[in-house]
Amino acid sequence: MNQQILPCYACFHQQTLGNDANAFSVDIVSNLQSNTSKLNIKSSNNIDSSSRPILAWRDPHNPPSAKDEVTHLDLMAKYNIPFIFDIHTHFFPASVMRAIWKWFDGFDWGITYRGNEQYRLDALARNKIQYFTSLNYAHKLHMAEGLNQWVYDTHKDTKNMIHFGTFYPEEGVEVYVKKAVEEFGFQGFKLHCEVSKLNLNLPELKSTFQYLEEKQIPILIHTGTAPLPGEYTGYKYFKPFMESYPNLKVIVAHMGAYELEEYASLMEVYPKLALDTTMVFVDYLATGKNPEKYISNLEKYSDRIFFGSDFPNIPYNLSHPISKILNFSLSIEAKQNILFKNACNLFGIVI
Ligand SMILES: [Zn+2]
Ligand SMILES: [Zn+2]
Repeated sequence: MNQQILPCYACFHQQTLGNDANAFSVDIVSNLQSNTSKLNIKSSNNIDSSSRPILAWRDPHNPPSAKDEVTHLDLMAKYNIPFIFDIHTHFFPASVMRAIWKWFDGFDWGITYRGNEQYRLDALARNKIQYFTSLNYAHKLHMAEGLNQWVYDTHKDTKNMIHFGTFYPEEGVEVYVKKAVEEFGFQGFKLHCEVSKLNLNLPELKSTFQYLEEKQIPILIHTGTAPLPGEYTGYKYFKPFMESYPNLKVIVAHMGAYELEEYASLMEVYPKLALDTTMVFVDYLATGKNPEKYISNLEKYSDRIFFGSDFPNIPYNLSHPISKILNFSLSIEAKQNILFKNACNLFGIVI
């Protein structure tokens, strides 16, 4: 078996999905010495990213706490933030989640929130993350519709979960996307250009994007090149996509890392374009070494930036990314917008 697996921060997947977690295999080009090492990993798209410092701590001697504890509630009170809305949380079928964690174990990457779904839902509640999403995505044909059905069947009654679906360029895509919206009541969709080897500009997705544009339904897209570039990742594919669907409500995951500047420039052109902060302003370098220079963008575009965590597959606790934003030199209004108000507005939640 010579399958490859690639990391997308915490959004890992396997090329051939089976019930057996052992089906996972990795194509590690170089060595792993510890979880503070630099990993050299080849992406599924065979693009060697050996020079990139992914999966490394900013300060190996002082990593953020990975204890499942909550330390940000006083800061929330200080800035009058009653709860957090996390727009980037993953929910997978249990067999997939177990396999994902097994993969992380191979990298000595501690999963702070390892546990069953009830445990994870309780962890979100303990952290005052009152609203969250159900992100997953397909990496092959005939998978997306089943994932949508799983989200609906498993979580239709999960309190305060904002249901997201996914889709893939395949026959019937527009039909099952409409079903997810009109029958299941899904409020958004997630796409992943690197994992899915997805070119957003494919003509066979045109009618689906036009439908979502017309309905003004948000799509959260991992389109950036971090931590691994793919065949269709990056600004050069995303820019023509936005030109085709200028009124689509797109949320760019990870603020478009590694091309934060280029993606931010599109914020000037497209008033409905938005960003999520997932794994950007943390002491872990998967999205690049110098996020500090983009802190000013949090203020500048504070009405179109959403807090995201990548929960539960993060090697630190939720207090780390939340406290980072709360401690930045930003206006109180910006902190409130990013941590809960923007997402509440987007999904019609009355505060
Ligand atoms: Zn993710
Ligand atoms: Zn991602």
